[in-house]
Amino acid sequence: MPPRTAVFFHAHPDDEALLTAGTMAMLAAEGHRVVLVVATAGERGLAEMEPGDELGETRLEELYASAALLGCARVECLGYGDSGLSPKGGIAEERPDNAFIDADSEEAAKALAAILDEEGADLLSIYDPAGGYGHPDHVQVHRVGRRAAEIAGTKIVLEATVNRDPLLRLLRMAGKVYRFPPEFDVRTFESAYSSSETITHRVNVRKYARQKRASMAAHASQATGGDSDRTLAVMLKVPGPLYRLVFGTEWFVRRDLPPGTRLSHPFDQWPR
Ligand SMILES: [Zn+2]
Repeated sequence: MPPRTAVFFHAHPDDEALLTAGTMAMLAAEGHRVVLVVATAGERGLAEMEPGDELGETRLEELYASAALLGCARVECLGYGDSGLSPKGGIAEERPDNAFIDADSEEAAKALAAILDEEGADLLSIYDPAGGYGHPDHVQVHRVGRRAAEIAGTKIVLEATVNRDPLLRLLRMAGKVYRFPPEFDVRTFESAYSSSETITHRVNVRKYARQKRASMAAHASQATGGDSDRTLAVMLKVPGPLYRLVFGTEWFVRRDLPPGTRLSHPFDQWPR
């Protein structure tokens, strides 16, 4: 395979660690050029530090460290404001002036398309239309990413996602023996991420589990301190062998392929 260029577009620092770190490390190890672009610095993320510019700077530093561990050749931040999340999980009422969700999506798409052009990108990774679990900035990544690929004529667009079927099975099983807090509704996961039959790519990233874990750990502001049940903190406690099993696959959807397609590498089935 000739060396190609893949651009991974994410909403906030640490999203790359959770969703695509293994695939990024794999492509870099195979000699491809891997570029990481975030829309925001994540300055309104949950952290021990107060939300604000200082947190944004810290999170960008963490992003650079994570990108270096994964073998990225370039990291860019589009500089939009982190739209945050309301306590109930929807759109936050108080948002910065330049919040990503309030941005003109055509303008944002042009900014990303300029990077795709510069890089001669062969592949762009975005999110599924639901934005995974529905963070408004993640939904916007889908919208802006689709349009940017159209403008730049990027051949392959992959939607990074999670196979929700095993996740739902696990949650339902857990629900029988464990009483979830009242605000936790398993049904919200029925429309989150993607169902098994829509997923076209299952990338085996077990070989890159160590890099993926190190990438998660690089986002220390999201993984330590304060309340200990943050996603990243919980994930980092998973023992090594189990970690490879649980985080050993990354999933993508390519919409130009028929559902039921099963591929194992991002560059498989090169579009005509
Ligand atoms: Zn995010």
